[in-house]
Amino acid sequence: MPTLRRIIQHTLRFPLASLLSLILAVLCTSLVLVLPAVTMRFIDVIIPQKRHDLIVPTALLGIAAIAGRQFLFTLRTYANNLLEMRITHLIRVELYDKLQRLPVKWFDTKSSGEIMSRVGDDVPTMDRVIIEGIDQALAAALQFLIVLAYLFFHSWQLTLVTLIPLPLIGIITSWWSRKSESKWRASSEASSALNALLHDNLAGIRQIKAYTVEPEALQQFDDASRKVGQAHQDVMKGQAIVWPSVSLIAESGIILMVAFGAWWTIEGQITAGVVMSFLVAWGFLFDPISRINALAQTFTRGVVAAKRVFAIIDTPDESNLTDGQRPTTFRGAVRFENVSFSYSDDSPAVIGLELTAAPGQTIALVGPTGAGKSTVLNLLTRFYDPSGGTIWIDDTPLNVLSKEWLRDHTGFVTQENFLFHTSLRENLQLALPHASDEEIWKALTSANAADFVRALPEGLDTIAGERGVRFSGGEKQRLSIARALLKNPPLLLLDEATSALDNRTERWVQQALDTLRRDRTCFVIAHRLSTVEKADCIYVLKEGRIVEHGTHEELLARHGHYAELAAGSLQ
Ligand code: ADP
Repeated sequence: MPTLRRIIQHTLRFPLASLLSLILAVLCTSLVLVLPAVTMRFIDVIIPQKRHDLIVPTALLGIAAIAGRQFLFTLRTYANNLLEMRITHLIRVELYDKLQRLPVKWFDTKSSGEIMSRVGDDVPTMDRVIIEGIDQALAAALQFLIVLAYLFFHSWQLTLVTLIPLPLIGIITSWWSRKSESKWRASSEASSALNALLHDNLAGIRQIKAYTVEPEALQQFDDASRKVGQAHQDVMKGQAIVWPSVSLIAESGIILMVAFGAWWTIEGQITAGVVMSFLVAWGFLFDPISRINALAQTFTRGVVAAKRVFAIIDTPDESNLTDGQRPTTFRGAVRFENVSFSYSDDSPAVIGLELTAAPGQTIALVGPTGAGKSTVLNLLTRFYDPSGGTIWIDDTPLNVLSKEWLRDHTGFVTQENFLFHTSLRENLQLALPHASDEEIWKALTSANAADFVRALPEGLDTIAGERGVRFSGGEKQRLSIARALLKNPPLLLLDEATSALDNRTERWVQQALDTLRRDRTCFVIAHRLSTVEKADCIYVLKEGRIVEHGTHEELLARHGHYAELAAGSLQ
């Protein structure tokens, strides 16, 4: 019920459109009585009195009323769809906005495919509750009451006979609606899992091909798709028994009604026209009931979808995203004071980190995989917050700063070098919206990327291809460096690529990185000797702890962990 109330609240954000829908529903519904009334007039008045003159006007009046009803119906469909479209848009945008404000940690436990099915499938499904659900349920209830009143007016005895099947149908319908909720949920979860798998496999298509695991991937997809079919089949199996049973009861009711009608007509208690009129009206009386069956399904599916959408909307935002302090200057001094952090409840990723960077210094982080180097950068961007200790930026604790302010002053060059599927210009403008072509070319030149971009037939208008597949590793690195240069942040976080480049490209990338590191504080996860040699201080991490720190020469002289890593040329 609270979920339904929230869905209705969304509808009420468009009060006029909602009211219009409602008025049209009432008008449309009230005109259902035309057909039974016209039929009764023909049989009870026109035929016995042999009134040829009344045939044409009565028929024309009936047709005009039906045409009016259908015209209102067209208006209603249009108004409803308009309302639904606006609400869907509103909720979809609200959901996307929420997704962008959720902490990175939240995304660690969700697959992109699953999230995509929330936005793509669940939002429209929950919105169908509004149109097919609320609007039609009201119309159906109203139609039932109007027709019932009409029948009672003409013969209350025959009406009572007509209503005999009703309680039985009600019991079966409400039982099925409750029972099918879990079946619908299972069906929609199976579809979500299929979407998630498809999304993952498409994103990893190169890995699938490279490891020639197509048959295994196909098998996985086959299983997931089969599960969708089975879950759907489970719902349909129930429907296949429930609907015919309901029809059996309802149609037996017609025979019963006609039988009693015939009896009372012979007895002279009612006219044949009344029986005929009941027969025509019967459809209008039971139509809402059969529709309520379908509506119950729509409601059930919609509420399941809405619960999942609201679960995301109700997740708390990333803390301090826009509020928090925004100092006027950012000098770039960084200090970690006894900082610890763990991603999950098990072993911590970093423990008791003590680390200092003066403005403009380059700090190199080295150590084996899993030592906690990326975690240091993740903590600095506040993708995650430490579980213990304090990180200071220019003498202000990191956790009181606005994240937006912090990220505006931080450049993050990752190994992934992600490019969006838009033009190079737009990809670079992410760092500096409205950057002019002149500024972009300057950054590209400093990043040693201008030559290959200039050689592209479409230059800056070249579309990067999904995740930047059109460019080589070395090119993507230089584009990322150009992007960071354009932003010109006082704090730079750099995850040096491990992938081997040919000597010439390597030299270009190194030169570009040297330019990028100049005049700003830089934390670099270093994999190359040439990078660490130039660092002001090197921190060696092992199993989440700092085991050594100092300059290249100091650490070599110690013959410890660093000397060992350097002997293997780092990586
Ligand atoms: P490095 O960058 O030195 O290779 P990381 O900082 O990435 O190391 O990882 C440190 C530890 O934290 C590792 O044990 C790793 O498995 C774990 N870890 C990293 N990222 C996550 C995550 N998103 N969720 C859970 N554990 C993680």
